[in-house]
Amino acid sequence: MTFAHRHLLGIEHLAQHEIETLLNLADEYVMLNRAEAKHSDRLAGLTQVNMFFENSTRTQASFEIAGKRLGADVMNMAMQASSITKGETLIDTAMTLNAMHPDLLVVRHPHSGAVDLLAQKVNCAVLNAGDGRHEHPTQALLDGLTIRRKKGRLHRLSIAICGDIAHSRVARSNIILLGKMENRIRLIGPPTLMPSGIQQFGVEVFDDMTRGLEDVDVVMMLRLQKERMDGGFIPSEREYYHRYGLNAEKLAFAKPDAIVMHPGPMNRGVEIDGTLADDINRSVIQEQVEMGVAVRMAAMDLLARNLLETRGAA
Ligand code: ASP
Repeated sequence: MTFAHRHLLGIEHLAQHEIETLLNLADEYVMLNRAEAKHSDRLAGLTQVNMFFENSTRTQASFEIAGKRLGADVMNMAMQASSITKGETLIDTAMTLNAMHPDLLVVRHPHSGAVDLLAQKVNCAVLNAGDGRHEHPTQALLDGLTIRRKKGRLHRLSIAICGDIAHSRVARSNIILLGKMENRIRLIGPPTLMPSGIQQFGVEVFDDMTRGLEDVDVVMMLRLQKERMDGGFIPSEREYYHRYGLNAEKLAFAKPDAIVMHPGPMNRGVEIDGTLADDINRSVIQEQVEMGVAVRMAAMDLLARNLLETRGAA
């Protein structure tokens, strides 16, 4: 198995074969997670600290379960209540933590690049759980695993990513991952929510859902990231739903067996129709959550192997 990285900071650093290595290992962890006794001791004796500077429900829970199933000692730092609010800098917090010898540090931060910066200051493996609009690598990996299991492959598929592309780290990580795996990517959304110059990533851009969804295998919806908007991006939520909200009528333009994805949390009735989101024949949203735990177990397992190897060699 080759996965020569000290940290998991973004998909941009991963080669195609490393993505495959990680997904293959995650497939094994899906089996463990479905077994009666969900326990392994791969991370036994190691300390995992989760630092979430931004709210999170599923990602934090997923990393916590993943670490516990692998036998790590897991600690969640309540960053809202921490010294950060008293004025401590990110680097000071990192240095303090570092002195406690964690082995795996899982970090979410509202600023793009903050997790990379932190990784340069600590001696442990750092996993990016989402930094600003930059990257959310484990989300793209769990999406990749979900697609691969549902479609039987993760290449030469036609995949539409729809909605608020401009503010989305999920979109960015997925564009990079799906591109590396040689898929055809279509981005659909209003021009105000489309980053300028995005075509240079080798994607096709549409501002009309019915044209963009034509014959795609996968429809990936994104949350309208209201917290990252400073006004004026959409006329109204009602209008947005009318033009860009996914419902059965618009989905009919995709392939008959196209799957529907959403990273959560969902704004029902804004970017997706609630009934469609719950339709187990089309929506794989629950599978995405399940794959999230397996992918995070695989990522932490691979990084821990590298960490222990480096320490052994030192
Ligand atoms: N949960 C994802 C993220 O942290 C998607 C979202 O918040 O819309 O980026």
